[in-house]
Amino acid sequence: MSDLAERLVRDLPALDAQDRLVHLRRLVPGRIVFTTSFGIEDQALTDLIARSGLDITFVTLDTGRLFPQTYEVWARTEARYGIRIQALYPEAGAAEGLVRDQGIDGFYRSIAARKACCGVRKVEPLGRALAGADVWLTGLRADQSANRATTPVAEFDAGHGLVKVNPLVDWSREEAVRHTTAFDVPVNVLHDQGFLSIGCAPCTRAIRPGEPERAGRWWWEQEADAASAIECGLHVAADGRLARSVQGSAS
Ligand code: SF4
Repeated sequence: MSDLAERLVRDLPALDAQDRLVHLRRLVPGRIVFTTSFGIEDQALTDLIARSGLDITFVTLDTGRLFPQTYEVWARTEARYGIRIQALYPEAGAAEGLVRDQGIDGFYRSIAARKACCGVRKVEPLGRALAGADVWLTGLRADQSANRATTPVAEFDAGHGLVKVNPLVDWSREEAVRHTTAFDVPVNVLHDQGFLSIGCAPCTRAIRPGEPERAGRWWWEQEADAASAIECGLHVAADGRLARSVQGSAS
């Protein structure tokens, strides 16, 4: 692990979310990339970054399958803070090949087909988003799911060769809601319709009372392979596991 990574892993846990961002920007000489999927925690983090004026690059992965309401909150966020959120798109040839091979909704057919779709529409564009960055900033919270329960504030991500920092990892969903309400932050209207975690439209449903926050993501896979069904391959631990232990909107 680099000296920078060791310093961040040591320093950041003791600070609150705002101070984590300020300390991070002070210590890191190079590019910091925040990947947002416009969920409520990502919106709270966008608010903290934008209002503090920190030089952090906002990026989103536009899979081409997002809800119309997600584009709407994207536009409202840019207008509210006067920022530009850079969009990364799937490689055209890869997306065309994917749809040719498995059909437009082929991801329902098998876990392998779904992972192939996430690979083309999310994982490969994420690699381009993070190329040359020193730090990857996310809105992951530890209490989003059992898989994310032991997510640290900072860790070295060997897969991407950078430090991954999750400043809101110890926030609850209620804290994120309180923050967005208090600071009048734009939020996705789907949250009020039972969509607590929002990804691609065909792969997200509203959850029922008492269900875990991410139960509506890839819900048809949950019985077959619960661990795979609640992550899309973006948040992979250094040893190749999903974000179960060491390591979120981007999604
Ligand atoms: S979440 Fe669904 S539509 Fe989006 S990239 Fe993954 S499989 Fe494809």
